[in-house]
Amino acid sequence: MELSDRARGAQLEIDKVTDFFGVMGALADQPDALDFTFGNPHEMPLPGLVEALRAQVEPQTVDWFAYKSSVRTAQQAVADGLTAELSMPFEPDDIAMTQGAFGAINLAFHLLADQGDEVIVPVPGWFCYAPMLRAANLVPVGASLEPVSCDLDVEAIARAITPRTRIVVVNSPANPTGRVYTRAQLDDLATVLNEASDRIGRRIWLLSDEPYRRIRFDDIPFTTPAAAYPWTMIDYSYGKVLLAPGQRVGYLALSPSMPDVDKQAFRDAFTPVQLALGWNFPNAIMQYAVPALESVSIDMVEYTARRNRMCGALRDAGYEITRPEGTFYLWGRAPGGDGDAFCMHMAERGVHLMPGSLFDRPEHFRISLTATMETIEKALPMLVDAASFGS
Ligand code: PLP
Repeated sequence: MELSDRARGAQLEIDKVTDFFGVMGALADQPDALDFTFGNPHEMPLPGLVEALRAQVEPQTVDWFAYKSSVRTAQQAVADGLTAELSMPFEPDDIAMTQGAFGAINLAFHLLADQGDEVIVPVPGWFCYAPMLRAANLVPVGASLEPVSCDLDVEAIARAITPRTRIVVVNSPANPTGRVYTRAQLDDLATVLNEASDRIGRRIWLLSDEPYRRIRFDDIPFTTPAAAYPWTMIDYSYGKVLLAPGQRVGYLALSPSMPDVDKQAFRDAFTPVQLALGWNFPNAIMQYAVPALESVSIDMVEYTARRNRMCGALRDAGYEITRPEGTFYLWGRAPGGDGDAFCMHMAERGVHLMPGSLFDRPEHFRISLTATMETIEKALPMLVDAASFGS
């Protein structure tokens, strides 16, 4: 067997998801399939996105398509946008432009952790943290969210900390639960991380995974963990708010309240480490488009209507559903308590959901609201019918 240990580790961590890709591949041949699986677009791309890209395609200088590290105009637009949005003074030098949140998360792991270090990730949580960590020779350690409310369980994080802990990942708004964590929860977490860092004699860093930051319902307020804990890096992706995950652009940002000595060390390391990770910068056109893209978004009025319709109808039918405050996902307990069996039952009726087993919660399932209202209306009668599945 020639495969490296870390390649095998990554493969094992994501097995369930790659198997699921196989199932989804078959869907492509079924034009009538009602697809609520991945957060992929089901409608034509946003005109604002297309215009922003078109405006940058025509070269304006000889070095238009030269090798690009972080492009200054993009860093400046991000710093200005973050300063306005989070009420903290971000500087362009503290922004590394990356290939989406994926690229920013990978950069943070490599900036902060050494071989064998442990990184605490939420359960249920996004399924790509663990394979990315294995590929970087790092060790994922799961910490459960509160089982019913899906809030941050600060005690569970405290229990998961060991002398090898280097990073705690917080994802708000959270995939798959849709929860947005409060300032009070983040302050409690900051207290735990400060105490634990003193105890183990090494700083524990916080990675705030915020690709859904601008996808929130009912104007619910958002606090970045960077406001509560100075040793925080924020990762972001434009892929969610533009619903264009195939066009890769995002960033890693240092908390403005981070000590200057740490900030300087990371600023100096951004470009060398991104180069070492295989030129982990977005393509030139994506970076040039960032100032325009800052103000483009999916239609949150439409998404709120989808959330209300789906969540309301499923709850009325007896489903236990977490009402999302952000993201474009609904998280629910499968009728009968077996998410795989329930999703299989629905798939046989042409309604494709994501089983909770992909998030280490086999009793649950996830619905993506990137499906259109028409698709939602077609699927609802079958979902309502299945509310008593397994009983
Ligand atoms: N973090 C979370 C919680 C996600 O759900 C995703 C994508 O699904 C990402 C990061 C990666 O985002 P992108 O593909 O836009 O880089």
